[in-house]
Amino acid sequence: MNEARALITGGGRGIGAATAKVLAQAGFHTIINYHSNHGAAEKILTEIKENNGSAELCPFDVADPEASSKALSDLLKKDKRPISVLVNNAGILRDSLFPVLKIDDWQAVTRTTLDGFYNVTKPLVMPMVRKRFGRIINITSTSGIMGNPGQTNYAAAKAGLIGATKALSREVAKKGITVNAVAPGLIETDMIKGAPVEQMIEQIPMKRLGKPEEVADLVAFLVSKKAGYITGQVISINGGVV
Ligand code: NDP
Repeated sequence: MNEARALITGGGRGIGAATAKVLAQAGFHTIINYHSNHGAAEKILTEIKENNGSAELCPFDVADPEASSKALSDLLKKDKRPISVLVNNAGILRDSLFPVLKIDDWQAVTRTTLDGFYNVTKPLVMPMVRKRFGRIINITSTSGIMGNPGQTNYAAAKAGLIGATKALSREVAKKGITVNAVAPGLIETDMIKGAPVEQMIEQIPMKRLGKPEEVADLVAFLVSKKAGYITGQVISINGGVV
């Protein structure tokens, strides 16, 4: 039986799904959170199990404080193995130029990223403190570092997540917990479907999109024991964009 559990929010598709697979291979019992796409998450669960990994599904809306609190309390009660790894990966885009950005689109993005961070991380931090071990990875974005036009909501949320990463890392450093942010550039997932990809690739020094597996491998390193002296950092993975 795997000794430790890893929770990946938004683990049903894209970067989160690739991360769930890599962490299951690394020996974690992987908890795959997602919002509503049950079919996609079920597919990842099956793949992990076919490769002799251990995983379960845990759907809830990270932006909803009550739903998050209930799901996490159930996870902590039903299984005594520690959740020593948390990957805050769930995220959405609602792009729009700022003068016409709707309040709903501002709130949907900031709530998913920032409230999501709060709702999921808060219940899991004290158990990590008690165990004197934990790894928290927050998936931010190049947009949160350089600010892309049309993404004021998304850039604000992702930059906020970087601030939260740095502050929390300092609070818990002496408790054996590391907190880092991973900032991907353009990664080939459903999130960028419909975007003018050819045009965007021109701006990338490597002239290609990143793969979800490349981000997942970086996350896997950061949660490993080998990365124990890395905390409070923002690590970019973007083909050389910034
Ligand atoms: P996808 O759109 O492929 O997948 C998003 C995942 O997040 C899905 O599993 C989705 O669930 C889940 N999700 C969305 N909202 C919620 C919510 N409220 N509660 C729980 N789960 C939720 O995204 P990517 O894999 O591309 O992105 C993953 C992360 O990486 C995001 O934070 C994104 O901002 C960031 N990122 C992505 C980049 C890219 O180019 N792709 C670049 C930089 C950063 P469901 O399947 O049920 O809808």
